[in-house]
Amino acid sequence: MKKYFKHILLLAAILTGVTACKDKIDSESIFEDVPVLDENSATYEFDKYLYENYQLKYNIAFQYKLDDESTDMDYNLVPVGYRQAQIVAHAIKYLWLDVYDKQQGPEFLKLYAPRIINVIGCPAINAAQGTETLGVAEGGVKITLYNMNDIDLTNMPWLNKYIFHVMHHEFSHILHQTKSFPKEYEQISAGKYDSQSWQYRSDAEAYSLGFVTPYSMSEAHEDFVEVISSYITDTREVWQDRGFTMAEDHTHIEAIDEDQEGTLIIATKIKMCKDWLLEKYDYELDSLRAEVQRRQDALTYDIVMNDAYDK
Ligand SMILES: [Zn+2]
Repeated sequence: MKKYFKHILLLAAILTGVTACKDKIDSESIFEDVPVLDENSATYEFDKYLYENYQLKYNIAFQYKLDDESTDMDYNLVPVGYRQAQIVAHAIKYLWLDVYDKQQGPEFLKLYAPRIINVIGCPAINAAQGTETLGVAEGGVKITLYNMNDIDLTNMPWLNKYIFHVMHHEFSHILHQTKSFPKEYEQISAGKYDSQSWQYRSDAEAYSLGFVTPYSMSEAHEDFVEVISSYITDTREVWQDRGFTMAEDHTHIEAIDEDQEGTLIIATKIKMCKDWLLEKYDYELDSLRAEVQRRQDALTYDIVMNDAYDK
């Protein structure tokens, strides 16, 4: 029985480390066999799409059919609708896989991307705490996304909240767990982390203390990946609230007022994340962010569903 650290990204709840036991998950080569694609199946076209664009290309299994073995039995869950599953798969290809593929190459995704993306139809509500779990990552191998029956391609804040912020957040955990986390990062906000009551802080309060989100205040590793994920996905308007302006072509952001302490701390953190990604992975955060922002601006239903961007 292998043990994996189960990481849960919560919207507003105290993060507690939970260790989950999972069998049969291997980060190397679990999907080498060609799946049985039944041409007479009603889902044949979509299953073929997933095989070609996820499994064959990146060794990623996109799971949309709810089964007992791969779902968290603590929640009352419903499966994602077939149409919604197709939209999620195309959206992740458009705003996540294609972006990393274009910048870092397919081998990067094959090496570091989660092996399983598990998609659930309804939200995961923690009734006792009155909170909602946005996504769960298990050992860097599997990411579960909830609430996918509500997917709406016209609602970018929703897409970022439930899919892309979660994906970049968890993926960044995989990257810092694979190569040594920068120790000096822990010093920037040492003494300011608040693992017990971060959820009671407002966005504005977090910004003023040098954190990009209230959740960043839970601890340094969460802070680190929240900076990367927020830097990539958040729009010009959100960065304005944090005291930054964004270049027209999205290539960089700049502090509006250098005297704002919180803004300065956030700028220091962004710089450290950028330097670390470049040094360890030859990964340029500004360029990845610019590509994501351009795709967010260009997003239409037709572009996403027909894989028509840049072609
Ligand atoms: Zn996290």
